[in-house]
Amino acid sequence: MIAADPQPSAKTKPQHVVVIGGGLAGLSSACVLAARGHRVTLCDKNDWVGGKAAVHRTNGYRFDMGPTILTLPSVLRRVFAEAGKDMDDYVKIVPLDPQWRCFFEGTSQAGTSENTVLDLVADVDTMKKHLREFTGNDTSSAGYERFIEVSKQLHGVSDRFFFWRSIGGLADTMEVGGAFSAAVLKDVMSLRMGRSVASVVRSHVPEHRVSQMMDHFTQYVGSSPYASPAVLCGIAHMQTEEGIWYPIGGTRAVPEALAKLAGELGVEIRTGTDILKIETAAGGVTGVTTAGGETLACDAVVSNCDAVRTYRELLGGTPQSNAFEKKNKYEAACSGVVLYLGLNRRYEQLLHHNFVFSKDPEVEFDWIYRKGQPAPDPTAYVCAPAVSEPGVAPEGCESLYVLVHTPYLRPGHDWKAMLPGYRDVILDKLERTAGLEGIRDAIVTEDSLTPEGIHNRYRVLNGAIYGLASHGKFLGAFKPGNRRKDLRGLYLAGGAAHPGPGMPMVLMSGWIAADVLDQDARDGKLPGKLAGQLDERRSKPTTTEGVAAG
Ligand SMILES: Cc1cc2nc3c(=O)[nH]c(=O)nc-3n(C[C@H](O)[C@H](O)[C@H](O)COP(=O)(O)OP(=O)(O)OC[C@H]3O[C@@H](n4cnc5c(N)ncnc54)[C@H](O)[C@@H]3O)c2cc1C
Repeated sequence: MIAADPQPSAKTKPQHVVVIGGGLAGLSSACVLAARGHRVTLCDKNDWVGGKAAVHRTNGYRFDMGPTILTLPSVLRRVFAEAGKDMDDYVKIVPLDPQWRCFFEGTSQAGTSENTVLDLVADVDTMKKHLREFTGNDTSSAGYERFIEVSKQLHGVSDRFFFWRSIGGLADTMEVGGAFSAAVLKDVMSLRMGRSVASVVRSHVPEHRVSQMMDHFTQYVGSSPYASPAVLCGIAHMQTEEGIWYPIGGTRAVPEALAKLAGELGVEIRTGTDILKIETAAGGVTGVTTAGGETLACDAVVSNCDAVRTYRELLGGTPQSNAFEKKNKYEAACSGVVLYLGLNRRYEQLLHHNFVFSKDPEVEFDWIYRKGQPAPDPTAYVCAPAVSEPGVAPEGCESLYVLVHTPYLRPGHDWKAMLPGYRDVILDKLERTAGLEGIRDAIVTEDSLTPEGIHNRYRVLNGAIYGLASHGKFLGAFKPGNRRKDLRGLYLAGGAAHPGPGMPMVLMSGWIAADVLDQDARDGKLPGKLAGQLDERRSKPTTTEGVAAG
């Protein structure tokens, strides 16, 4: 692809961009835009930036409140590189391998009533050895190797068609791919369109515990593997190739590092600033209005607010909002319950990341995604960060984080009433399946986050943790595109926009929104009168076309 001319056409006042929301995507966008010479004001309604990547401190215990698993650090690295900075100077990350420990409850299906444990490691040969020992035969190890090969292929297709560019549907991928060549056809065929993640996983690895573990790569997008398109199998290779990383200081260190970079680049960060409205005129954005009644004029807006809520609420009453609602078939991704448990002891059987699996994933996902009720036998993700950073808790203690996926908020869900009973379900599960005996007695401090809390704290769609669901075996991976074709000067970034949720994807989403905005500014396509004029701080951007995923 031919890169657009990166040189500024004029040395004048930069564009003024307002970023609504300081989640990871908003921060990423703000940094990239500022690095490219734009004037940026970032507003968040909360009194912190980082959105879901928040921190909770109590009585000597520290908890990451939201994301805990960092994959694809190359995406974060690239945001810093935009400003000519080295990520390592801002945040220290260490690899974790084994990546997850998996606890399975004994079932008749397993042929044993004993609980079993399997560690997921990055190296495929070592993993094959683990699987041979775990299952007692070669079927799963050979199938796992084949699956990782398929996953690698799908990861490659995502790199070529899906990542680092604004995509809102299948047609956009073709625009990028150019002529419909034999290579493109091969890539499209390899997408296994019409098949689900679960079916591809099981065609390679029928063993129910191993396939259940492999399903969980898609839990980063909060969707059912039985309804998600096969292309999402590519996530497995992304994880085995680049690994899982822990930022020292917790995941919270990531938004803190980005906020520091943003400050150095001159981004004005306004916390406690709730944006109620995006102002528009003549088919373009002109500014935003805060809850305090202040209007900030600008040339462009990046909305890190949920995509559906941006159209429904921030643009409410406009023709663009009405048109979006008419076509809107998006469904919220799952929500979750998080328990933050300060323990007076550690459980030696835990690694940093652990999954305590339900007995039957099909039944579990049916509860969460179809019936819309919490699963009676859930899978719990358990994070024990003192394994990597003992200072998160008093000596010999643990800041245990337990996340169970639940349905997004449905009418009638009252989590104040539902939480006490579900807490018992979760703690019983941990005792029964992962051997965390006596956990109730070990709890010194306890806090929780429910779907209602998630909904209100982060202003998401129906309490969704991961933006929009990726359901649909053909087109489920597509989210609203970053560059809005219906309103000049509006760009979307975040888990409910392309390319989707999870830390690396939202960081990429922010980068894409900034990149296409910057291209539009250079091409004079922004609504403001300053369009096409950039200041001398502009660094040389890489155009979306010229980039492969790192
Ligand atoms: C419990 C939990 C566990 C998770 N675990 C992982 C994990 O292990 N690994 C992983 O990769 N991902 C994980 N995720 C997902 C990941 O956290 C998200 O995909 C990502 O952080 C979302 O970033 P974002 O920028 O899209 O949005 P958010 O973090 O939601 O930020 C959006 C921000 O916009 C602000 N905002 C919205 N509307 C307005 C407005 N009108 N005016 C002003 N401000 C506004 C909100 O206050 C918020 O701060 C987890 C999420 C949760 C909740």
